[in-house]
Amino acid sequence: MTEKLFLNDSYTNEFKANIVEIVKVKENYGIVLDKTYFYPENGGQPSDLGTIDSVEVIDVYYFNDKIIHLISEEIEKKEVVCKLNFERRFDLMQQHLGQHILSRCLEIKHEANTVGFHIGDDYVTIDIDKKLNNFEIDEIEKFSNEMVFKNLKVNILYPTEEELKALPLRKQPSVSENIRIVEIDKFDYSPCGGTHPKTTSEVGLIKIKKIKNHKNGLRIEFVCGRWALNDYRYKNEYINEISDMFAIKDIQVKERVMLLNNELIESKKKIDILKDELLEYEMKNIENDFILKNNIKIIGKYIDDKSIKDLRAIGNAIIQKDNYLICLISNENNKANMVIGKSKNLKVDSKEIFNKYIALLNGKGGGSPFLLQGSGDNIIEVENIISDFLKAEF
Ligand SMILES: [Zn+2]
Repeated sequence: MTEKLFLNDSYTNEFKANIVEIVKVKENYGIVLDKTYFYPENGGQPSDLGTIDSVEVIDVYYFNDKIIHLISEEIEKKEVVCKLNFERRFDLMQQHLGQHILSRCLEIKHEANTVGFHIGDDYVTIDIDKKLNNFEIDEIEKFSNEMVFKNLKVNILYPTEEELKALPLRKQPSVSENIRIVEIDKFDYSPCGGTHPKTTSEVGLIKIKKIKNHKNGLRIEFVCGRWALNDYRYKNEYINEISDMFAIKDIQVKERVMLLNNELIESKKKIDILKDELLEYEMKNIENDFILKNNIKIIGKYIDDKSIKDLRAIGNAIIQKDNYLICLISNENNKANMVIGKSKNLKVDSKEIFNKYIALLNGKGGGSPFLLQGSGDNIIEVENIISDFLKAEF
């Protein structure tokens, strides 16, 4: 069985070990070492990555009590040089201890238990079994960071059964033998097999990013240490860019964005009113531009840049009056929109007209006998359709 060196030393990231077994895992190779500092994914903490004899380690995991170091090339030597990606490892150590501190603070202040824990690519979540408000969350964030700044010592304990009974554990162990307790200087006792820094100050900072309701409690998203710095860096950059854009102070950004948003909403409302007025105006112009044939007011018109919705609105307004037969076509994004309509008092077969022209446009559509609409991509035919319509007898 592999000696789990990571349990008692989270900092060594270069070591020599012997390969004791190689198993084929699909197209990759699973290396089993006599000892390892590589942490296998477990208990919410992702695996370490790095290299074994310069070959990249893709994943590290437990399989039937063995620790598998997954690599893509075969290694034929026995003794190998292993290197961890320590930046990644340390990031994970910061997140992990940050989680212990945060969970303990939630327990002390609100008797809220941590029931879920997940470390993602650049953020961490915990689920708690109680709902807290924003003020309470702010207080928890402050309290947790006080524990970071106090530079408390982190100890690894292997208590006897008797000693274990006397410890104020935050949660019950998930294993029954070789129970490992991570102690933060009399502040927190948590059974855990993960990797942690030696002191709380190495966590750097705990920043809660957001909370949302989750089951009967909350999901808290947070970042620690370098991840908190990265989070701050991009947010600072964005705020600076926005404040430069408007030549305002960073503190004024929120107020300005809210103001702009209100202006945008008002402008959109005004544009809608103006559009309606324009449509009304255009409709009046079109309505008077007809050819009278057999007592039918025939309108065949091309209108530039109108959506099918606008075209329909114009057509619908015109056919409310008697004796109109209309064919309106617009070009929108290299597509022809067409509306065929007739007044209620006319007996013309508008469907037949529509079917003939929509086929020429290579399009599809439909509607009521009084107003039919459709779109097609054969815009070359638009002029022919309108002249055909104006020449036809109904
Ligand atoms: Zn832990």
